[in-house]
Amino acid sequence: MNNVLQEPVTRIKGIGEETGEALRDMGIETIEDLFAYFPFRYEDYEVRDLADVKHDERVTVQGKVHSEPSLTYYARKKSRLTFRLLVDRYLITVVCFNRPYLKSKLSINETVTVIGKWDQHRQTITASDLKIGVPTETQELEPVYSTKGALTVKGMRRFMKLALEQYGEAIHDPLPVSIRQAYRLVSKKEAIFAIHFPRSHEELKQARRRLVYEEFLLFQLKIHAFRKIQREHSRGIAHDFSMEILQQFIQKLPFPLTGAQKRVVQEIVKDMRSPYRMNRLLQGDVGSGKTVVAAIALYATVLSGYQGALMVPTEILAEQHAHSLQQLLAGTNVQVELLTSSVKGKRRKELLEQLAEGRVDIVIGTHALIQDEVNFHRLGLVITDEQHRFGVEQRRILREKGESPDVLFMTATPIPRTLAITAFGEMDVSVIDEMPAGRKKVETYWVKHHMLDRVLHFIEKEVQKGRQAYVICPLIEESEKLDVQNALDVHSMLVHHYRGKYRIGLMHGRLSSEEKDAVMKAFSQNEVQILVSTTVVEVGVNVPNATVMLIYDAERFGLAQLHQLRGRVGRGSEQSYCILLADPKSEIGKERMRIMTETNDGFLLSEKDLQLRGPGDFFGTKQSGMPDFKLGDVVHDYRILEVARNDAARLVDSQAFWHDESYGWLRFYLQQAGVFSGEKLD
Ligand code: ADP
Ligand code: MG
Repeated sequence: MNNVLQEPVTRIKGIGEETGEALRDMGIETIEDLFAYFPFRYEDYEVRDLADVKHDERVTVQGKVHSEPSLTYYARKKSRLTFRLLVDRYLITVVCFNRPYLKSKLSINETVTVIGKWDQHRQTITASDLKIGVPTETQELEPVYSTKGALTVKGMRRFMKLALEQYGEAIHDPLPVSIRQAYRLVSKKEAIFAIHFPRSHEELKQARRRLVYEEFLLFQLKIHAFRKIQREHSRGIAHDFSMEILQQFIQKLPFPLTGAQKRVVQEIVKDMRSPYRMNRLLQGDVGSGKTVVAAIALYATVLSGYQGALMVPTEILAEQHAHSLQQLLAGTNVQVELLTSSVKGKRRKELLEQLAEGRVDIVIGTHALIQDEVNFHRLGLVITDEQHRFGVEQRRILREKGESPDVLFMTATPIPRTLAITAFGEMDVSVIDEMPAGRKKVETYWVKHHMLDRVLHFIEKEVQKGRQAYVICPLIEESEKLDVQNALDVHSMLVHHYRGKYRIGLMHGRLSSEEKDAVMKAFSQNEVQILVSTTVVEVGVNVPNATVMLIYDAERFGLAQLHQLRGRVGRGSEQSYCILLADPKSEIGKERMRIMTETNDGFLLSEKDLQLRGPGDFFGTKQSGMPDFKLGDVVHDYRILEVARNDAARLVDSQAFWHDESYGWLRFYLQQAGVFSGEKLD
């Protein structure tokens, strides 16, 4: 399926080598690339009634020149042209900078179209563009492209026009007519013409709708087709274990499973027993009880004669998990060991041998687990906790240590559905959406900084009752050094404030892992009552006696992160409190603080976070696997995303998709995307 659109842009008459070079610098090589270079906004020439226009808004007006233009020079080559314009019933002032030549062209009663910023108080428009007469073609919306180097927006418009004139007819439609009709989508050709040069808002809307659908559909097709191929071609392990023994184990746990835990255990067990490789995401809010689910799955893999691995992002967490799992599995003869970078020398050598020989059943560790020297005898299940903190690559390396072991990712960051189906679309998803009974809700307060004294007094009262507190320090984006400095400052402030009555610990990213462990140990044994920390404490730490979480500059954190931090308290039987110290300036900032005080529902918060901050910021890293969509916006185009996803799933499962002529372009696209060679997606 080769195509003239895949020819270089210099094929276009009117685009020479130089322009071609400039376009290449912007990543535009082929004619097709050029068509796919969409405007990022439009200059809106739609004429509006001034009564509807707010102060400082951009606006287009049409009117008749009402006064002789007056021109003043106020510096060399700097000039200001002013005249009165009668727009409907309003008489306004128009100011034009540095375009003295207009003076001779503006005669009284001449009709002009002016675009600019509306100053409501002065009843003045500062013009960024001025056209004499009523524009002949009613091009109300002009595309604005981001450009680089010598290319200008005007130039881009011209090249785009040339390209469309010469090659627009060759634009093929990858979507079969059946789909287009079902959703009344305009053709690809119409859409491409209209996205660049829309003749109306409606036309633009339809073009966008069509292209967003296509973008989402192609993306989802890639995921679903890839998944199907994986299922059919990768032999996973059909774990074979006695359900009865597993049930007995579950019965003997110190608490009955919640309904949600039972459900996800079933989903996981089913995957494990099937010959396909499990690739499942387990989501559950902080404290929803994921660890025990992991323990059950790990026990199952051991029962069927395999080893299991649990990978976590920090040493502290690894130790905690190892401890919990050893307790949960105490009644069995399963051998659980911890492998972190602090396991050294002889002990390490021994452990590595035991792992390779299969004498250790379950190993828990940090990224130390993915080092070359670590070999398993028969790895059957890999679980990663807080998985979005690991890079895609790390996940792959661990997985490849076995012969396609089953894989379970656990995360306590509730991922909004839209993100889950894009960033993690190739996985099955299980959700624990129910908390173990009897949990007390953490009470959350938002206070201003000037009330810090009262907050410190409150903390003191809790400490006197035998409780403990976390104090999370101001966050400075991208600067670990400043974060550490803040932590030091807050620590010494508290030491001074409480005059040595309580022990105050300090935790930050610059400490060695031994130091961190020592601090955490002291805190968990209540040798330290107040722990000052940067956000390193965020993940998974469990100190049930801590009842206060104080967060400095809370407005700087994302909602998901605040919720994670809040999840550090409320783990014991006592009432716990989360105090947000914040003086947000923006409305959004205030809104975020309010939401935090109003809800404890992690999923709701994550949806809000996504709406307020957008997908880019949600995970905070580029590694998250979130694709960059050209046009589609997973928040605003959520409905289209859902529809496209269902369509993709349905198509991939249908015979027609794989054989019919009408799906040829879509199959071609999958081939181009490397889906069939299987190395593309994680
Ligand atoms: P998370 O999902 O945050 O990892 P954990 O697995 O650490 O949560 O569980 C939090 C606490 O809840 C632990 O102390 C655990 O023992 C307890 N827990 C888990 N499941 C249940 C349950 N079904 N009933 C009562 N307590 C439970
Ligand atoms: Mg956990």
